[in-house]
Amino acid sequence: EGRSAEPIDEAELAIEGALRPGSLGEFVGQPKVRGQLQLLLDAARIQNRSPDHILLAGPPGLGKTTLAMIVAHESERPLRLSSGPAIQHAGDLAALLSSLVPGEVLFIDEIHRMARSAEEMLYLAMEDFRIDIMVGKGAGATSIPLDLAPFTLVGATTRSGLLPNPLRDRFGFTGHLEFYDDSDLEKVILRSSGVLGVSMPGDARAEIARRSRGTPRIANRLLRRVRDYALVHGEHGSASIAEVRAALELYDVDPIGLDRLDRAVLDMLVRRFRGGPVGLSTLAVAVGEEAETVESVVEPFLVRIGFLGRTPRGRVATPEAYEHLGLQHPETAAL
Ligand code: ADP
Repeated sequence: EGRSAEPIDEAELAIEGALRPGSLGEFVGQPKVRGQLQLLLDAARIQNRSPDHILLAGPPGLGKTTLAMIVAHESERPLRLSSGPAIQHAGDLAALLSSLVPGEVLFIDEIHRMARSAEEMLYLAMEDFRIDIMVGKGAGATSIPLDLAPFTLVGATTRSGLLPNPLRDRFGFTGHLEFYDDSDLEKVILRSSGVLGVSMPGDARAEIARRSRGTPRIANRLLRRVRDYALVHGEHGSASIAEVRAALELYDVDPIGLDRLDRAVLDMLVRRFRGGPVGLSTLAVAVGEEAETVESVVEPFLVRIGFLGRTPRGRVATPEAYEHLGLQHPETAAL
């Protein structure tokens, strides 16, 4: 009806929702976290109580929001979605907490970005299901205790180290999500291609998996671009490996899945800073990105594939990174 300025993004958001697995059984990979969550949910069910608070840590797109939805669904409880940046004052959190229905699952994405004052309120809420609301100012200020309905907090953060210890300690359990291997990503792609109605041979799915940076969200996103390409250039909504390659080349995804920003960071590190070491903020400014984005979105995968090292003196590029860029590493060149 023409209300939205960004119909495409809205449609894409809806598709992302449709691609979410609805149960732990459908959730691909992460056997460790899945097993841990299963036990937590089973124990809560036996005792007919809310599951303990859960912290999920890991790079974006690995399934934290999806798992929060699954926790709510499997424990048959309603779910409320919020995020750290939306909680700028203790009052925002008080309003949120006091409106929860008994047993509700509260998901706070990017919980490390919540206001400090709210954090302190959350300690008491998590522990005793109680908050103190400050009324008035200065010498006349008093605090009024308010009882809350019991709830389960599911917090998500890109790195658990970003949270202050008192907050981290109040979670019953922290699940660390790892990058997915290619065979798990192929399963995600197989399932999503069924939902999207695009058929692909196994080698085409493997090619998308190889270029997905170990991340289901990226696998799903690349799959949608491949689907578009197949719609326009292919036959009968089916995509061959040649079409996968052509589509991903069009979108600047290189053969091992690095995108423009990944390559910009590596390029800058190697060419401008001679391979480092260089500080995170200097590197981020040089590529025109926020330090947090470089640190939590770009670096984890580059570290995982052995292209980038984090040292006390800063970031360094490895010989493998030079090789990928088609350049000679200074040390090997000197030999
Ligand atoms: P995060 O909250 O960690 O950023 P999301 O939970 O939003 O990630 O997941 C991003 C997308 O990837 C969603 O569309 C979701 O369906 C898909 N996804 C994530 N993990 C899995 C998984 N294990 N199996 C299938 N799909 C997944």
